Amino acid sequence: MKKYSTYPMQQHNTFGLNVKAAQFIEFETEEELCDVIKAGLSSPVLVIGAGSNLLFLNDYKGTVLHSAIMGVTVVEETDGHLLLRVGSGMQWDSLVEYTIQNGWQGLENLSAIPGEVGASAVQNVGAYGVEAGDLIEQVEAVSLSDGGKRRFTHDECRFSYRNSIFKAEKKNKYVVTYVTYRLRKIPEYRLDYGNLRSVIGDGNEVSAATIRKAVQEIRQAKLPDPAVIGSAGSFFMNPIVSDEHAKKLLQTYPQMPHYATADGRTKLSAAWLIDQCGWKNRQHGPVGVYKHQPLVIVNHGGATGQEILDYSMQICHSVEEKFGVTLSREVNVIE
Ligand SMILES: Cc1cc2nc3c(=O)[nH]c(=O)nc-3n(C[C@H](O)[C@H](O)[C@H](O)COP(=O)(O)OP(=O)(O)OC[C@H]3O[C@@H](n4cnc5c(N)ncnc54)[C@H](O)[C@@H]3O)c2cc1C
Repeated sequence: MKKYSTYPMQQHNTFGLNVKAAQFIEFETEEELCDVIKAGLSSPVLVIGAGSNLLFLNDYKGTVLHSAIMGVTVVEETDGHLLLRVGSGMQWDSLVEYTIQNGWQGLENLSAIPGEVGASAVQNVGAYGVEAGDLIEQVEAVSLSDGGKRRFTHDECRFSYRNSIFKAEKKNKYVVTYVTYRLRKIPEYRLDYGNLRSVIGDGNEVSAATIRKAVQEIRQAKLPDPAVIGSAGSFFMNPIVSDEHAKKLLQTYPQMPHYATADGRTKLSAAWLIDQCGWKNRQHGPVGVYKHQPLVIVNHGGATGQEILDYSMQICHSVEEKFGVTLSREVNVIE
């Protein structure tokens, strides 16, 4: 276990914000985590992964906990599927690559998403028509209140769009230690989202590896590399509005992208709404909107979390004013 005081967090958040944590603790086993919680942590407590969806407004006055629990174990296997139990500290994309190398399918559409395994369950990460929650069988976690271990079944995790019980009623209550994924050994791919099929190319062989390569290519062209330019990916979620509201907007903006949801409402494209308000590739001081993707707010260097938050509020107001649609943040703001 590693423990530090007044710890620099710049390498632990992809916005590259220059903040410090009063305490930073990295644990390598579940037992270490249970012990350190039982011994008492100075509050407040924040659990982080790779910090790719965090916006720090200030130095963090309490304890930042980081999982370095590694390891991938096949816990069940049949002809058609397998269950893979993975330590929460493993890099998400290394897991995706590992599963594809082993001929296991399910995670390929989620290639190249920054972050770690623990957060895949908290955030229910998603891309190209697939969400991690679709494949999660169970989540093991440790309670921050008493250091006790608990298992959450798939249903108990209450996965929904970029959301789970760990981001809602159990927010900041549990540390995810292991996630178990149900993967396929028989091909069954999702290519019907975005331009995935056209990037692979008609007539070309479709496999988990070719899907991964196509996703990597598309993402590279569209999203900033956190090692080069600070961001947290999509700052906002795609808003879901009533069917009535969507129909009204479509009368004025017939070209507006829209998708029916299972509950009879309509999902809109936050990127399109922001673009229509003229934000793409705009910059104010060190903060701006990424040139290839209006959903991504970037730190061109030296921005504070508050400056980024203020900028995001301006975007929200203009979308609200023009379309009467309220954008919700995907990024976790840490006060
Ligand atoms: C360039 C870029 C592209 C992105 N593209 C996508 C995308 O396509 N799809 C998508 O869904 N997301 C995307 N994201 C967002 C981000 O990658 C995901 O939200 C990711 O899951 C965050 O992982 P993390 O380990 O960095 O978590 P962090 O940002 O450190 O934390 C995120 C949340 O999870 C909690 N948390 C983290 N680890 C644990 C744990 N072990 N136990 C309990 N709570 C925990 C934190 O408290 C916080 O609330 C992108 C981000 C960037 C920078």
